[in-house]
Amino acid sequence: MAGYKNPAFIIKNNSPEYDKLYAPGISAPHAGIYRCNKCGHEIGIAQGHVLPPQGHPQHSAAMGAIQWQLAVYAIHNK
Ligand SMILES: [Zn+2]
Repeated sequence: MAGYKNPAFIIKNNSPEYDKLYAPGISAPHAGIYRCNKCGHEIGIAQGHVLPPQGHPQHSAAMGAIQWQLAVYAIHNK
């Protein structure tokens, strides 16, 4: 589970972006932290980089395929 210390840096957001599931090999639509919704493994990734199968713990057959779900995304102030 993603952690944080300072609540001033995080804001609750009900965007449907948090409900989408992504297969490995898809470009990350947002920079941030993604969580595999099958095993809880988390990664940090830049926008446009490929969501990985490599380096991810092997799932058992019963666990099914890796599915990445956005946990926290970075807001880039320009
Ligand atoms: Zn997993």
